[in-house]
Amino acid sequence: RRAAYAELRDVEPFTRCGTRIQVMMNAGLRDDLTTLQLVGADGIGLFRTEFQFLVSATLPQREKQTRFYKDVLEAAGDKPVVFRTVDIGGDKAVPYLSNDSSLEDENPAMGWRALRLALEREGLFKAQARALIEASGGKTLRVMFPMVSEPWEFDAARKVFEQQLDFLRQHKRIMLPEAIEYGAMIEVPSLVEVLDQLLPKVSFVSVGTNDLTQFLFAADRANPKLAARYDWLSPSILRFLKRIVDASRGHDVTLGLCGEMGGRRLEALALLGLGYRRLSITPVSVGPIKELIRQIDLAEVGAFMNGLVAQPPADTRAAIAAWAQERGI
Ligand code: PEP
Ligand code: MG
Repeated sequence: RRAAYAELRDVEPFTRCGTRIQVMMNAGLRDDLTTLQLVGADGIGLFRTEFQFLVSATLPQREKQTRFYKDVLEAAGDKPVVFRTVDIGGDKAVPYLSNDSSLEDENPAMGWRALRLALEREGLFKAQARALIEASGGKTLRVMFPMVSEPWEFDAARKVFEQQLDFLRQHKRIMLPEAIEYGAMIEVPSLVEVLDQLLPKVSFVSVGTNDLTQFLFAADRANPKLAARYDWLSPSILRFLKRIVDASRGHDVTLGLCGEMGGRRLEALALLGLGYRRLSITPVSVGPIKELIRQIDLAEVGAFMNGLVAQPPADTRAAIAAWAQERGI
């Protein structure tokens, strides 16, 4: 596997028509840091900070968080890292946070988790904000909030960071980040209805198709009985993803996608056709997807996907597969 990684590590993901696509990777563990250089990704498009919280019996100390984030940034060197604030709660339960209401969560995926929890557990969220700020001294901090359902939640989360920044500026003699870029995950469908209100506030957004799909189809992503029923290449998903691209036009916002679908061949092809230019994917897929990108002409796949989304054939997956096969992709 190492040999296969090495072979594709230095492949530059330019399309046939000459557009540079950003291929980043998803991470969350200390071990992932060596992988970044090994697979040759453009950076970490999604760093799931909750792993550190999930493996700990008690709330991780702020200093420990700071050290970990610092190590991540150091390992990434010049490559950007997008830290996603904790997505715990729901099915990612942690003993030190459980209370009566969370134990009673009947639909954990739709429950008290991620930003919903963070905004109510101010102590926890403030500590994470401060750890991320302190770890990013002299660098750009890129921070992304999970499960934003309405724009005010983004505002509230950002305010927690700004307050920590003010506090540190006034009371501590430490190096602060050069800049902070704030972003939101697009993984709750309600947010897509109000993107015109959200986008002026953010530097970037990243579509989380794992959660987005389960909410669009009302199908639990953890239920094996449903795993094969709904396809990422179904017309509803493709149209929904296209709406996000269309809504982002004209805004000074970087649009990316960090769900698992981006790491699969046909799905990545479809996403490029819909207009996505930044994918953050599982490390093993980085090489293969970079290779795929080199075979693609964006105007050609764009026209194909536009037609497909406007008038979906009975089997969209088969149609995309046939289109790719005809072109030797
Ligand atoms: C997603 O929901 O698509 C996502 C990338 O986040 P997670 O899988 O951590 O929920
Ligand atoms: Mg998610």
